[in-house]
Amino acid sequence: SDHHLVYPTTPQDMDWSSYFPAFVADQQPNIVSEPAEATEAVSKPSPTKLTKDVEVVDIGCGFGGLLVALAPALPDTLLLGMEIRTQVTEYVQDRIRALRIQNADTNLYQNIGCLRANTMKFSPNFFRKGQLSKIFICFPDPHFKHRKHKARIVSTTLNSEYAYVLKPGGIVYTITDVEDLHDWMVQHFEAHLSFERVPEEEQEADTCVKIMRTETEEGKKVERNKGQKFVAIFRRLEDPPW
Ligand code: SAM
Repeated sequence: SDHHLVYPTTPQDMDWSSYFPAFVADQQPNIVSEPAEATEAVSKPSPTKLTKDVEVVDIGCGFGGLLVALAPALPDTLLLGMEIRTQVTEYVQDRIRALRIQNADTNLYQNIGCLRANTMKFSPNFFRKGQLSKIFICFPDPHFKHRKHKARIVSTTLNSEYAYVLKPGGIVYTITDVEDLHDWMVQHFEAHLSFERVPEEEQEADTCVKIMRTETEEGKKVERNKGQKFVAIFRRLEDPPW
């Protein structure tokens, strides 16, 4: 259950400083203003700002293999894994902490973080409209039974949330070993007016696709079992002029 998960009210309220401490912006000195009237409401302290925003999200990141592999490939980008299981999230956070210490001389792995969240809820509370350039959905739980399909993290409603937080030109990456789920994801993204499927040639030329195919823990398991991997990626289109 996720009833004790905490969500920011708006993206501006989210304090990312503990996730990306190397990217905390220099604090503006507080400007001393006239003493407030006793009746005036006390304003909330604003969260510590970063020098850049999270731009890449791995939904259901599991043990973090993709984040760790993408970190050096996208060194100037902040990448966030979102994971619903508490212990798995803590494992990834420990893994990142250790990597940062081991690589203190190069500053590698400062650009990845992991947050515990149910991505089926409140994503627009974390990210502004058009904030993200890439969303990864790797080996999502298949929820085979028909009555469980509403638990799938690709659906018409959720695709609208992904469209909201992605900038035009942004990409959703999907991979699964379940052909039926692959077909479902393709069908739901192709039917959505905000997305178009990226042609195979372009897909195969994308470095992130190569990394996604080999670096997630679930992908490695599929590899060991000689299973198939189905990949599809989708581009966020410009909104039509009204
Ligand atoms: N992407 C990883 C990989 O490829 O190795 C993990 C794949 S695993 C099969 C699916 C993951 O999604 C699990 O770690 C699960 O806890 C997580 N998950 C499922 N539903 C979620 C949700 N609503 N929000 C966040 N994470 C979720």
